[in-house]
Amino acid sequence: MTKQALLIIDYTNDFVAEEGALTAGKPAQNIETRIIELADQFLNNDHWVILPTDLHQQNDPYHPESKLFPAHNLANSWGRQFYGELQRWYDHHQHHDHVYAYAKNRYSAFANTNLDNFLRERDIHTLHLTGVCTDICVLHTAISAYHLNYDLVIYQDGVATFNPEGQRWALAHFQHSLGAKII
Ligand code: ZN
Repeated sequence: MTKQALLIIDYTNDFVAEEGALTAGKPAQNIETRIIELADQFLNNDHWVILPTDLHQQNDPYHPESKLFPAHNLANSWGRQFYGELQRWYDHHQHHDHVYAYAKNRYSAFANTNLDNFLRERDIHTLHLTGVCTDICVLHTAISAYHLNYDLVIYQDGVATFNPEGQRWALAHFQHSLGAKII
């Protein structure tokens, strides 16, 4: 079977927990169980689990997000730890050779990172996207993946955002403009 990767995007306390700095709240908390279930399934099937995770510095004058959002996902903070069960899952599996967590500094998991190279080295052509926010970081990652000819699968119950309209719009865009399979 061809190699596939599950991407769990930005599923951290700041984006998911009630007290998070930039939380998507309940809709984001509601996908926790599904994400863990998929992560276990991917490792059991000898596929990959990749965790691209936002990383920021406090008051970074050079970063465009400093003007757009409150500080979030700061280095070594509680806010940048994975939310709930995912942190426990990661603690348990972080040394597994098919688990890869790395820092990103823009919405897309591909921007300024080695993700494309990492996937090509391993002959991975299909990406399954989960995490937050559907209409921001998941969207930009999906667009980058589309530009690089990856096949996309997106889990309706594995992605979330703070805005129901954004969720609907992004799911339609994944399907109709990026050719993603929506499950
Ligand atoms: Zn950010």
